[in-house]
Amino acid sequence: MNVTELARILKITPNDLREKLPKLGFDIGQKAIKIDLVMAQRILREWPFLVRKLQQADFQNIDKEKVIAIEDAVPEKKIIKIPSLLAVRDFATLANLPINKVLAELMKNGVFASINERIDFDTAAIIGDSLNFDIQLDEKQNLDEEKETHNDKKVEENLNQENEGNLSIRPPVIVVMGHVDHGKTKLLDAIRKTDVVAGEAGGITQHIGAYQVVRKNRPITFVDTPGHEAFTAMRSRGAKIADVAILVVAADDGVQPQTIEAYKIIQAAGLPFIVAINKVDRPTADLNKAKQDLVNKLNILPEDWGGKAVCAPISALNGTGIDELLDLILLTADAEAKNMKANPNSDAIGTIIESRVDKNSGPISTLLVQNGTLRVGDQIILQGKIIGKARSLKNYKGEEIKEATPSTPVRILGIKIAPAVGDVVEVGEGERVKGGLEKLAARPILASAAREEAENDNAKKLNLIIKSDVLGSAEAIEESLMKLNTEEVMVKIVSKGLGNITEGDITRAEGSDAKLIGFNIRLSPQIETLLRERKVEAKTFTIIYDLIKYVKDEMQKIMPQNKERINLGRLKVLAIFRTENKSQVVGGKVLDGQIKNDCPVEVLRNKDLVAIGRVTKVQAGKMDVPTVEQDQECGIQYEGKPIIEVGDIVQFYEEKEITTKL
Ligand code: GDP
Repeated sequence: MNVTELARILKITPNDLREKLPKLGFDIGQKAIKIDLVMAQRILREWPFLVRKLQQADFQNIDKEKVIAIEDAVPEKKIIKIPSLLAVRDFATLANLPINKVLAELMKNGVFASINERIDFDTAAIIGDSLNFDIQLDEKQNLDEEKETHNDKKVEENLNQENEGNLSIRPPVIVVMGHVDHGKTKLLDAIRKTDVVAGEAGGITQHIGAYQVVRKNRPITFVDTPGHEAFTAMRSRGAKIADVAILVVAADDGVQPQTIEAYKIIQAAGLPFIVAINKVDRPTADLNKAKQDLVNKLNILPEDWGGKAVCAPISALNGTGIDELLDLILLTADAEAKNMKANPNSDAIGTIIESRVDKNSGPISTLLVQNGTLRVGDQIILQGKIIGKARSLKNYKGEEIKEATPSTPVRILGIKIAPAVGDVVEVGEGERVKGGLEKLAARPILASAAREEAENDNAKKLNLIIKSDVLGSAEAIEESLMKLNTEEVMVKIVSKGLGNITEGDITRAEGSDAKLIGFNIRLSPQIETLLRERKVEAKTFTIIYDLIKYVKDEMQKIMPQNKERINLGRLKVLAIFRTENKSQVVGGKVLDGQIKNDCPVEVLRNKDLVAIGRVTKVQAGKMDVPTVEQDQECGIQYEGKPIIEVGDIVQFYEEKEITTKL
């Protein structure tokens, strides 16, 4: 935590705070900028008491009586233990205060919250102090809440606890983002090819979610999960993994919807970034127009136009500008060096960037080590619980390694439970649990293998391939569609992606018997022709509601039909008129209900079912009739096994299909 931040909460100046703390036994130094979080929390907790202690010390030599008077004047504060985040309403309940009083106190401090809104510990501590409470952090409640939500803080806190002297620079971690088809994959390939070592090792690099290259003797880590899908998943779980972003913009296409979305993500994460203007080899490439687009649509002013944004013209196809881009990455990393430090001698902590369950090997996850060093045999902890031991470690080249230092992506084998992408795991001691692991295991994992396992096998599946303009809408669509799932019928998203429907999508739809759905995209005439030829259905929507309605209707169509049987009437057989190979003509009397022509029947003898068949003719008084009522006599033509005897009962029934509404 920053000293200025703490001073602001305590309502004193930072210098005043720096001066007072040593007197109170907190050794933070006269020039301290940051303060250990645990220490800060202790200071916050004990502040009213500390103030008194200071006042006592000041007055001690002057006026003893006065000190006593001061002490008397300060009534004993009631201690309240709270989690790091709690609703205003819950705070009022804990403090046993009318809600209005709490709201008013918040307002006095410039916080306009509603009763259901959550306030953080610092805010609660300030208003609690004014309301004469001693607010303390409830470590236990905090553990549960904090660990689930603030993954990025976890790594940050872990690093904050390191002694500055033990920290050394770690390699920067880079993400590549941008609009579909602007060349992200190609760029990642081009960068990988610059690494001779990777090439020498057989040229087959393993896809583990990230790789490293060495430039000027310095390793750089690239997260190479396709698109920014995984990155968004991590972000939504509060994980922060990258140090620098590369925003890829095609020189012949400029800023597109996903460029805008990617830039929003970059801004939200506060990441330094470099714009890579790609495909400069193309005759249609227009560097100036691309830059103009950056200015107009993203408010990014390139460096050579007097702004701050570094723009690198590149061609991922033929390798132009790649070395320069790597140098720019190193420069940007150097400017951020203070945030890129770690202690290689600590126990490892890091974020899961890929995770799946292999049918043979079990859970396989890739960890990006963010502090410390992970070693073979280390015990891995997730949310305080042991999830297994690192039986073996592999790097992105597929080589077995003994240890992984900070910023190294490493594939871990041997853990029992697959963590989710974005989970922060660490090495250390944890709770050995049996039952408790279910909660961990039940959490969503991005990897499709694990997702499939969780599916209900008996349910009918509506296979879908979804393409959309931006990732945000793809996620919203998926979320809404998942809500339609029932035990009988479920949506299965075979694949989803950004951009227009391609021939590849059509092939995939054919192969998986899936319907294609597009959101905010258009079908080109060629694709429409292809769809017709290959008899694949594709629908596009611009309104999410319409899309959901369509899927719902399709789900309804495949909803398994339940048949309901209705008994119509019974005929007691009184005479056999004719018996043939596969039919009989018999006469009888309707015992109850109504019998009718063209109807399935069961033949019962002493309540036992002896045959099933169908009645194809009903005659009353030598006339063909559609129905015959109770107590009347008639003749019937029966098709089926000809075993009807006098005395048998013919049960007429009907089967109705009943459709359950979604
Ligand atoms: P992504 O969707 O952003 O990952 O884009 P890809 O890397 O798959 O590239 C999309 C298409 O653009 C592919 O056909 C690439 O071969 C092509 N492409 C990528 N970079 C370049 C480049 O620098 N020059 C040219 N001419 N084509 C490129």
